[in-house]
Amino acid sequence: MRLLSKVNHLVVHCAATKSDQDVTINDLHKWHVVDNGWSDIGYHYYIKFDGSVYPCRDVSYQGAHCKKVNDQSIGICIEGGYGGVNNFTDVQLDSLWELICQLKLKHPNACVNGHSHFDDKECPSFNVVQWYESMLENKGFYL
Ligand SMILES: [Zn+2]
Repeated sequence: MRLLSKVNHLVVHCAATKSDQDVTINDLHKWHVVDNGWSDIGYHYYIKFDGSVYPCRDVSYQGAHCKKVNDQSIGICIEGGYGGVNNFTDVQLDSLWELICQLKLKHPNACVNGHSHFDDKECPSFNVVQWYESMLENKGFYL
């Protein structure tokens, strides 16, 4: 795996799973490492419906989640989003917000976008930029 030397983007993905599915970090490992033959899970973080955050690939290494910016981004995957449906939970999005805040402390200039910003895909089944902007506003960042 190549070292990640710069972080210009935080890219949000979804696992494209249904609300009644329980996709664990072990499933991601199976899909990416066993089935795809990759050296590790493609994302750096995974967030479950219950809001728990799982570190996946070490952030010191480039991920495999968004071809155009793998060499300059951190990839965060959230459970859900099957068929373009926003079935994410409030606690899950709270965790996403907190994780992004932590990452922004270390990488203040990194842009926050959904996968669909870079590729013609539905992923992550919600408008990340709009959500992020409204979170900033709700938290008083634009007072
Ligand atoms: Zn994606």
